[in-house]
Amino acid sequence: MNIATPTLPASSALPAIDPAAGARGLYIGGHWVRPAGRQSIPVVDPSSGAVLADVPDATIEDAKAAVDAAAAAARGWRATPPRRRSEILSRCFELMTARTEELAHLISLENGKALRDARGEVAYAAEFFRWNAEEAVRIRGEFTLSPTGANHIVVDYEPIGICVLITPWNFPAAMATRKIAPALAAGCTVVLKPASETPLTAYALAALYEEAGVPPGVVNVLTTTTPGPVTAAMLADPRVRKLSFTGSTQIGRVLLAEAARHVLSCSMELGGNAPLIVFDDADLDVAVEGAMLAKMRNAGEACTAANRIYAQAGIYDRFAEALTARMSALKVGPGTDASTECGPMITPAAVGKIERLVDDAVSRGATLLCGGRRPEGAGFFYPPTVLSKVPHDAAMAHEEIFGPVAALARFETEDEAVAFANATEYGLAAYVFTQDLARGLRVARRIDTGMVGLNRGLVSDPAAPFGGTKQSGLGREGGAHGVLEFLEAKYIATRL
Ligand code: NAD
Repeated sequence: MNIATPTLPASSALPAIDPAAGARGLYIGGHWVRPAGRQSIPVVDPSSGAVLADVPDATIEDAKAAVDAAAAAARGWRATPPRRRSEILSRCFELMTARTEELAHLISLENGKALRDARGEVAYAAEFFRWNAEEAVRIRGEFTLSPTGANHIVVDYEPIGICVLITPWNFPAAMATRKIAPALAAGCTVVLKPASETPLTAYALAALYEEAGVPPGVVNVLTTTTPGPVTAAMLADPRVRKLSFTGSTQIGRVLLAEAARHVLSCSMELGGNAPLIVFDDADLDVAVEGAMLAKMRNAGEACTAANRIYAQAGIYDRFAEALTARMSALKVGPGTDASTECGPMITPAAVGKIERLVDDAVSRGATLLCGGRRPEGAGFFYPPTVLSKVPHDAAMAHEEIFGPVAALARFETEDEAVAFANATEYGLAAYVFTQDLARGLRVARRIDTGMVGLNRGLVSDPAAPFGGTKQSGLGREGGAHGVLEFLEAKYIATRL
């Protein structure tokens, strides 16, 4: 395949991010491996449909080699003093931060998201290295007297072992660093399988980790078009002790079943269907600003995206009007254009799904306030869209829209809002807007989700536990909880 290597703007005097790192091969044991005759995976620019690069398609044999490399590096990395591990993670943070522009550009190219979102992602992604560099030297054990007084209880926290990490395409940098940084802080070695739609960022970051001093084999990266058998082979290897997955609930269920066969520890960050509730007493500007952020970060392609927006009867019309004005003014275009506010969707299939959900809602009685029509031309675009009076039986009230579509519905009472919010199998994030703090906290506690934004449209924070309830997953990433997912408690009963 004849492909022009994408060029990136240099953001520092340091060696540039290598956009073609993935084209050099799978990253296994510190080497770029590209076996001859191997199939390749084209990486498509969603803004144009053009092929940007191609990356190798790993087989089960490659996956076994990656686990071998992680196993070979495990003993040395586990024995590396926490201070040294911390310094290497700090260096990853520094290098990522210094190359924000190049990384953001690469993310925009392969994912399509607006540059401003991509810059935000790089900052967020890098922050997991800083946070976990600080965690690496603060992993504490316990030494307590047993209640009987007969012996002491010693608890040590040990690295859980080799970890298989699987990430989605919507945050190509952050979903990887949110796993890699705590795993490395804990002393684990990893094999990362990024999404085939956006592998270039993962490979470019692998080169950066190497430069930061991460030893060969500690992080391995492979891409594949056959994730089922390739992952199954890795999970079946008794040296692998952990699966950390971010992606859809559907694939999460498949992987949990696979992991159950080998009794593996699992962390699962799955799908969402976030409600956003605006009470009559909300500050209208704050609510609209929050809704724009919760809905339109990443053009709606976020697991935490506000999927259902409920406004109380007294504020509904003003809120709908103000939100529609903001949504219809957004500039749609290629992610890499500096002025773009809403980039393309990841694939034609993603656009098709959004179209289906909008058509279904309209056929059930919803009203289009703006957008709703796919534009002509190249690229996988869908315009910012607002729908009013979306009925509760519309498919979009139950499925992730994953696009720039705000679905509005009216409610009367607090109890009704809570009932609507909880009427989903998902439990990732929710948003509440009110100037009555007591009500805000009360409602936040009644909503069954792992995270709630109160008068705020953004919940993601490397210092906070990110994760969901119900079908949105198991475990937490970030905060003090993140590193615990990669540690095993070892209890030693001691008589002194
Ligand atoms: P996806 O489930 O289709 O794919 C996720 C990853 O799993 C990809 O790397 C994919 O190649 C891999 N995969 C697919 N089939 C597999 C199999 N049989 N075995 C092993 N791996 C397999 O999800 P997606 O479309 O890439 O991402 C969007 C989804 O991710 C949405 O549902 C979104 O809500 C969710 N998400 C959740 C979070 C969170 O933190 N909870 C964050 C981002 C995205």
